[in-house]
Amino acid sequence: RHVAELIAAGEVVERPASVVKEVVENAIDACATAITVEIKNGGMTFIRVTDNGSGIYREDLSEAFQSHATSKIQDESDLDGILTMGFRGEALASIAAVARVELLTRRAEELEGSRYVIEGSEERENQPAGCPKGTTIIIRDLFYNTPARLKFVKKDVSEANAVAGVLDKIAVSHPNIAFQLIKDGELKLNTPGNGDLLSAVYAVYGREFTKGLTEVHYQNGGFAVDGLVSKPEFSRPNRSMQNFFINKRFVKSRTAAAALEEAYKGALMVGRFPACILNLTVEPHTVDVNVHPAKIEVRFQNEKPIFDLVYFGVKNSLAGLNAPEIRL
Ligand code: ADP
Ligand code: MG
Repeated sequence: RHVAELIAAGEVVERPASVVKEVVENAIDACATAITVEIKNGGMTFIRVTDNGSGIYREDLSEAFQSHATSKIQDESDLDGILTMGFRGEALASIAAVARVELLTRRAEELEGSRYVIEGSEERENQPAGCPKGTTIIIRDLFYNTPARLKFVKKDVSEANAVAGVLDKIAVSHPNIAFQLIKDGELKLNTPGNGDLLSAVYAVYGREFTKGLTEVHYQNGGFAVDGLVSKPEFSRPNRSMQNFFINKRFVKSRTAAAALEEAYKGALMVGRFPACILNLTVEPHTVDVNVHPAKIEVRFQNEKPIFDLVYFGVKNSLAGLNAPEIRL
């Protein structure tokens, strides 16, 4: 069992940032409204993620750390329309295969919570413990038992930056959740979780970036695009601030990026690029997120409606024009 988990771990757990992504996505799936991430040494020696979500029953803990154990998919048809961030049931098993993991958790209706410890896939402890509602997971000594992996890990600064990058994207796509990042004891990110996208973007990217933005809200045929784009005079020297989300999941989409730039055609100087934070709401069954464990690439049943959605959404917002009716 351990060998299989080590192999799976290689796919899911590449570096501290991938651990943080998986664990924070679990907290989101558990309906947390406040999530705090603490890291030390770029996350290599210490990652602690605290949420105020649903918690886990003690009798479900061992199962949660088994590979392919997920509570989020009941049958095949669920795979057609994934609504949760996680669905593979691999993250906790993979993380526990290559680190020392301690978990404290309590369901709201329980008086007593649980403390669960697992190291290198070996369960060490599962017993009652007093703790607040929600879940705290502590991951220590990542890759302590896989020296080959350690060689691919970069300097602490780079790993910490990657963790911060992951959280920035999650924070701007979930303005209803308050996020904190504490790096080596210092508060690095603090979003209000008040549901307002602009406030979240302000907290993440600062005042200068925020003041150059204008809102986008557009829907057509059951698809919607919402978010913020840069006013033409606030365009940027590269594409690094183009952020697309599908159903709140950060994605890379050439189609969406092409549509964005097409909407600015003629409005920008050569060598300048728009910035955006755009969430596309689409029917889950029209998008396949099951492409890669890191789940960053998406495929659409049909790319054309996605192009049109972004193009007209942005164009409208920039020009204040009414786009012609499009069929999706
Ligand atoms: P997946 O997210 O794909 O279901 P994971 O390995 O990430 O798989 O998690 C396994 C299971 O553990 C989840 O399905 C969920 O039931 C439970 N779980 C993990 N983290 C949390 C959390 N923070 N709060 C509540 N339940 C959790
Ligand atoms: Mg998960």
